[in-house]
Amino acid sequence: MREKYRSILDKASIKPWFIMFKVMLAIIIVEVGIMMLFTMFPLPQLDEYELAFLDAFLLGILVAPMLYLFLLLPLQRQTINEQTNRFLMYDSLTGLPRRNLFRKLVEHEINKAKREAYCVAMIVIGPSDLSRINQSFGYKIGDELLSQLAKRIQSILRESDIVGRLSGNEFGVLLPDTDVRLVKNIIKKISEALEDVFKIDDIQVDIMSVMGVSIFPDHADTASDLIRRANIARTRAKHEKLDYDIYDVQDESASHQRLLVFGQLRSAIKAKELELYYQPKVNLDNGEISGVEALARWVGESGQSPAVFIPLAEQTGLINEITRWVFETAVDQCCEWREKGLLIPVSINVSPRNLYDPDIFDFFMQYVEKKSLPCSMVTVEVTESAIMKHPETAIELLSQLKRHGFKISIDDFGTGYSSLAYLKLLPATELKIDQSFVANILLDEKDEILVRSTVALAKDLKLQVVVEGVETEDVIEKLHSFGCDMGQGYHYSRPLNPDAYIEWHQQWNLDKAHNSSSAPD
Ligand code: C2E
Ligand code: CA
Ligand code: CA
Repeated sequence: MREKYRSILDKASIKPWFIMFKVMLAIIIVEVGIMMLFTMFPLPQLDEYELAFLDAFLLGILVAPMLYLFLLLPLQRQTINEQTNRFLMYDSLTGLPRRNLFRKLVEHEINKAKREAYCVAMIVIGPSDLSRINQSFGYKIGDELLSQLAKRIQSILRESDIVGRLSGNEFGVLLPDTDVRLVKNIIKKISEALEDVFKIDDIQVDIMSVMGVSIFPDHADTASDLIRRANIARTRAKHEKLDYDIYDVQDESASHQRLLVFGQLRSAIKAKELELYYQPKVNLDNGEISGVEALARWVGESGQSPAVFIPLAEQTGLINEITRWVFETAVDQCCEWREKGLLIPVSINVSPRNLYDPDIFDFFMQYVEKKSLPCSMVTVEVTESAIMKHPETAIELLSQLKRHGFKISIDDFGTGYSSLAYLKLLPATELKIDQSFVANILLDEKDEILVRSTVALAKDLKLQVVVEGVETEDVIEKLHSFGCDMGQGYHYSRPLNPDAYIEWHQQWNLDKAHNSSSAPD
């Protein structure tokens, strides 16, 4: 294949006939020079053999440096250049063109496709789990895996197709003169080829590969854009757990939009455009307020709902900053209420990434100690699916928090993996049944059974049960009859800013006191 690449690129190399010509010219000039010297300064007492010897001697002395200058030096330079180029252009592990060379080859094929009016497809293949394999089996096995993988990909392609290594774990395949049907066919073949177990020494390695496709002229007309868009398609395939995906213009506008929101969110954090709202949790037995859940709000012109900006913050790592801010603000608020004689425990939401942040525990502890707030006034809400990403690490952090007095709530229960085996191991104090079950509890018998049995299960495990999303009195009655401890939802109050919340809080207590004093004995 390299010869094909070479012919495409047609790298300028030293022309042998030109060197020969230069050397011949040099010899002629030197010889003419010597002969002229002999005629100008005739040498006495030398016979013709001695003269011939002297001539050859002088020719040798003078031509040798010229040979070095015109022949050896350029050849040596060319060899070094070729070696360097090869090193820079080809991947030493797989022998495939690296990103830069691959891009040039793609550019060349696109230009040809423009002239001859055909389609060119780009497939970007990314084996996942490569870092896990490197960590588990070592880099030698990882390298061998990559080289076998490259061979398998090459084995099913046509001679005219071009393969390149784009990065550590990304391969690019360029299919000239093709169409969507053909591309799908090739993708199927690549998938099948990579599905088989890789045998390396005595080890059997199984990998998953996700592919993204883009097509010239439909999706891009330059090599860089074609590669980038195939990569965008691959990222979407990965998120949507597909084997492959074909680029869709909307992908990019969605990712542009995400980038835009990300920039705005970062500025919003700096400009203090995030606020905390509070939503009460009410005890179903006696109507007392058991605490509040702190929910982030992005106010200001570019403000978005938490359903948009929290996942974005999770993807980009901004969530570590946000969670620290939420914790500090909620603790400050709790302290402020306490100074006014109101004991209102606060719940804060913690994202998956926070569970694997090695400094989060110290941060929480130092802040409550600084504010002299008992840890028992703070509940950490975490979803079960967040815990299930790395259960051991998550359980360790949550247990540590619980040992120091924090309360732990399992949020959105029922929507994630719901592993009952893990539920037993979780250091939880509270279970929050997701609002999606509550919405239809009066209409759907199955939802009713699910909520009733989950409440019973939680009670057996000595957990407090909160049901979120309660919007009507009927639902509250039903939940109360199941033995639910607390309710949270619009029926009581929407999340409110601190001033509005305290107004609601006082009014609720006033109404409660009024109702109990006017109730018949
Ligand atoms: P979540 O933790 O499950 O929060 C409950 C969501 O349900 C809140 O939405 C709340 O406003 C809404 N809700 C409460 N009662 C009702 C009701 O009766 N009916 C209906 N339809 N909805 C109700 P919100 O505030 O939009 O938050 C959405 C999600 O965003 C939260 O779900 C949570 O996962 C996340 N989130 C919000 N604030 C934070 C935060 O500070 N940190 C983190 N990590 N996540 C947050
Ligand atoms: Ca929550
Ligand atoms: Ca929830």
